Amino acid sequence: MAHDAVVVGSGPNGLAAAITLAEAGRSVAVLEARAVAGGGLRTEELLEHGFRHDVCSTIMAFPPLLDFFSSLKLDLVTPPAPLAHPLDDGTVVLADRSVAQTASRLRGDGPAYRRLMSPLAEKARDLLAMVLRPPRLPEHPFLLARFGAPGLLSALALAGLFFQGREARALVAGAAAHSLLALDEAGTGAVAMLMLASAHAGGWPVARGGSAGVAETMVRRLRELGGEVECERRVTSLSDLPQHRALLLDLAPKGVLEVTGDRLPRRYRDALETFRHGPGAFKLDWTLDGPIPWRSAECARAATVHLGGTMEEIAEAELQVARGQHPARPFVLLTQPSLFDRARSPDGKQTAWAYCHVPNGSDVDMTEAIERQIERFAPGFRDLVRKRSVWPPARLEAEEPNCVGGDVMGGRMDLRGLLARPVLSLNPYATPDPSIFICSASTPPGGGIHGMCGVNAARAVVRSRLR
Ligand SMILES: Cc1cc2nc3c(=O)[nH]c(=O)nc-3n(C[C@H](O)[C@H](O)[C@H](O)COP(=O)(O)OP(=O)(O)OC[C@H]3O[C@@H](n4cnc5c(N)ncnc54)[C@H](O)[C@@H]3O)c2cc1C
Repeated sequence: MAHDAVVVGSGPNGLAAAITLAEAGRSVAVLEARAVAGGGLRTEELLEHGFRHDVCSTIMAFPPLLDFFSSLKLDLVTPPAPLAHPLDDGTVVLADRSVAQTASRLRGDGPAYRRLMSPLAEKARDLLAMVLRPPRLPEHPFLLARFGAPGLLSALALAGLFFQGREARALVAGAAAHSLLALDEAGTGAVAMLMLASAHAGGWPVARGGSAGVAETMVRRLRELGGEVECERRVTSLSDLPQHRALLLDLAPKGVLEVTGDRLPRRYRDALETFRHGPGAFKLDWTLDGPIPWRSAECARAATVHLGGTMEEIAEAELQVARGQHPARPFVLLTQPSLFDRARSPDGKQTAWAYCHVPNGSDVDMTEAIERQIERFAPGFRDLVRKRSVWPPARLEAEEPNCVGGDVMGGRMDLRGLLARPVLSLNPYATPDPSIFICSASTPPGGGIHGMCGVNAARAVVRSRLR
């Protein structure tokens, strides 16, 4: 059967692209290699019956603040606090929903935190809408100036300019480390501000029962609109595809090259071949006999916990990764969703996952280093571990082909990597073949669950030959 559009890959971006096209009246089919749709929105009983683990994403930092997801009415659970960051002396820096409450715990840095974050948190929806769409003239120039000027700084420079105390500096460093970049890189300040603004405004919820619920909602919406999703359909070449007018690839450049063969011109293929990926992630999932025994009980108020100590320590760890080394004390990003969502584990039991950053393609086992960092702030953690599932970069890529070398963001998230994604172009979703488009996290605005790469790519299709 012929379709207006075929989407290869059913990650959040592939599904968002398909829904946007179907809403515009186009007939759409999504082809997915795996048995279940969702890509980075997968939830599985990886280890034991009754324990549900998100294989990739858990924290829905942006969806509560985006029009696209608001219309889908997701079933989300919001923890009391978005983010906890314990320090060695038992202090916890807590990013609360309220900027004022967060600031009140930052001692002398409170007023500066309020000055920096209040305007961004209040306008977080406008801010996200502006930075997650393709580059063009801003609708809110004053807001952009407030965000863009300090945001162009590195996280270290931003923290140095605004804050004196270790609490505020640690909070900025942990938020900036979501970029997977060294914290002295220009633009990491913007990542910190965006993550913190979304934490205050949206609360960093998790999906009830696991992230797969978000994928199921998206698939349901697509089917209501007449779209189709076919699983267990790995596409290896263009000849595998049903008839279509436009093809959208929810694939990293490596996958785009495999599927398109020699259809795209040599120069474009060369550019995709030299696409720059970011560092990898080394991830662990656990089934646990109880809640993580945090030294500071307040850590149990948040689904996301940043483990790495002070800004200086986190900066050193991320710098080592950027230099191709493996830090002995890595920055660890931990999620404990079952504390707030009882649908994820049997009574009295818990699940959790954590990852640290490693050089792209690394084969070094970071299990011990990650668990040591958790023990540092939660002595006795290991005694609660029932089973663990280990995801070095090679396994991540084998099961999630867009995570090339373990890169969870679909490409380096530095300024150059955001502008030339996957190539430098005014319409980065289009390729030299007028019927082929790319809609994965390897296009702007990059990695994370927001679906905006897909929405932007679908709009580019509608503006072009499917008009
Ligand atoms: C361990 C980990 C933790 C993460 N945590 C978070 C988080 O908490 N919050 C957050 O916002 N983001 C998080 N992310 C990032 C987020 O998951 C990704 O940025 C997002 O999933 C990218 O979406 P996508 O649609 O571009 O690609 P994907 O989600 O990777 O989807 C691509 C899909 O294409 C399919 N596919 C690939 N090749 C083919 C083929 N040849 N034929 C057919 N189908 C194919 C794949 O099976 C997959 O389903 C995390 C990622 C990882 C790996």
